[in-house]
Amino acid sequence: MPDPAPTEPDVSRLLSVAEAIAIIDAAPVHPLTTTVPLSDAQGLRLAADLTADRDYPPFDKALMDGYAVRSQDLAQIPADLRLAGEIPAGYSPTPDDALDPGEALAIMTGAPLPPNADTVVPIEDTERQDEVIRILQPTQKARNIAPQGADARNGQPLLSKGTALQAAQLAVAASIGAARVPVFDHPRVAVLTTGDELIPIDQTPGPAQIRNSNNLMLAALLRKLGCTVNDLGTAPDDPETLRYALAAGLQHDCLFVTGGMSMGAYDFVPRILQELRVDLRITKLRIKPGKPFLFGIAEGYNQSSPAPTLLSYVFGLPGNPVSTFACTIRLASRLITRLSGGVPNDNFLTAPLLSSLPPNGPREFYQPATLTPQGVHPLTWKGSADIYTLATANALLVRPENDPAREPGAMVTIILI
Ligand code: AMP
Ligand code: MG
Repeated sequence: MPDPAPTEPDVSRLLSVAEAIAIIDAAPVHPLTTTVPLSDAQGLRLAADLTADRDYPPFDKALMDGYAVRSQDLAQIPADLRLAGEIPAGYSPTPDDALDPGEALAIMTGAPLPPNADTVVPIEDTERQDEVIRILQPTQKARNIAPQGADARNGQPLLSKGTALQAAQLAVAASIGAARVPVFDHPRVAVLTTGDELIPIDQTPGPAQIRNSNNLMLAALLRKLGCTVNDLGTAPDDPETLRYALAAGLQHDCLFVTGGMSMGAYDFVPRILQELRVDLRITKLRIKPGKPFLFGIAEGYNQSSPAPTLLSYVFGLPGNPVSTFACTIRLASRLITRLSGGVPNDNFLTAPLLSSLPPNGPREFYQPATLTPQGVHPLTWKGSADIYTLATANALLVRPENDPAREPGAMVTIILI
C-alpha cells in the first residue's frame, strides 16, 4: 500500500463531485429562446433543427477548371475534341449547350455540367490549338464532378436543436439561407465578490488589501460559455449591504458569488442566501481546490424566467481564485450549458503522465497542468490562491478521491482550459 496522503479532517459527510453533478444536472431549467440575425448568432445554440432547403450541390457541379466531355469520346487517348463554348460559374446551361459527339465545353470550378456531359477533364491534362482540345491523359468517367445532392438532400436535417453555432455551423446555416435563426438566448449572469480586503483593480491597495481578481476571471469564463455578464463588483463583509447585493444578483438567471462562503466569523453568504429563501441544494463538497461550494435555487426574483416560477440559480464559490476557476469549469458550467440549451459534457481527455504524482487525498483534485504532444506535466501545486501557476496551465489534471501514487506513463484524465 502506498503511504496515505497528508491527513485531512473527516470528509465523508461532504458530497462527492459525482453527487454534486447529479444534483446540478437535476435542477429544472427553462432556457429562453429568441430569433437573431445569423451574423449575431455565434456561440448560441439552435432552438430548432435546420434542414436543407434544396439539394447540395444543387446541380451536377464541376470540381476542376477544365473541359466538360462525354466519356465515350475518350476511348482513344490522345483524343481531339471540338471546343463548342464555355460554362463559367454562375451560368445555367440550356438545352442548346448539350454536347454533341466529339465536342467539349470549357468549364470552371463550381459551374453546372451541360446536358450530355458526364466527365470533367482537368485543364492540365489537355492542350488547346485554336478550337481543338487535345486530351492527353485518360480521365475516368464521372471524375471531377460532384453529383447533385451528393453533400445533402433537400429536406435533410443538417443541424440539430442544441447545436452550438460556431464557424462551420454558421457556414451551413448561411448556405441554406437561414438569415435569421431560432436560438437559445444568452443566459444573463451576475458576478459578485465579497470581502472587506478587496479593492477594485484601478486602486492602490493598502498593506492588508488585495485587488479583486475573481470578477474579471469569472466574467471571462462565463462569457466563453455564452453568458451575458453583469459585474456587480464587491460587497463588504457586512450583512445588510451583502443582503442587498445578493438580492440584486438573484434577479439574473444565475448569480456567481465568491468569498465569504465558509465558516469564518465574517462568512455571511450562506445564511443570508437562506434568509432570501434560496433553496441550498449543495453546501459541502469533497473537491480540491474548492471547498466550500454552494449551489441553490431561488424562486420569485428573476423576472425574465418563465412565470410563475421566476427561477434563478446561485453558485457560491470560494474566494480563492483557483478554486473558483476549477469549480466553475467542472460544476457550474454544466448548469450554464443547460441554460444555453445544450447538454453538459465532462470534456474529459486522457493522456500519459510525464512525471510521477503522490497519492491523492479523499477529495477529487483538479491540479493545473500542461498538455504537450508527449503527455501531461502536472504543475507544482502552490495552493488555491496561485493564479500565477494557473495562468501557465492549459489543462486541469483530474485526480479521483484517494487515487494512488502514479508513475510516468500512467494514463490520466484532464480537462482542457
Ligand atoms: P474567503 O472565501 O472569503 O474566506 O476568501 C478566501 C481567500 O480568497 C482570501 O485570501 C481572500 O482574500 C481571497 N479572495 C476572496 N475574494 C477574492 C477576489 N474577488 N479576488 C481575489 N481574491 C479573493
Ligand atoms: Mg472573505
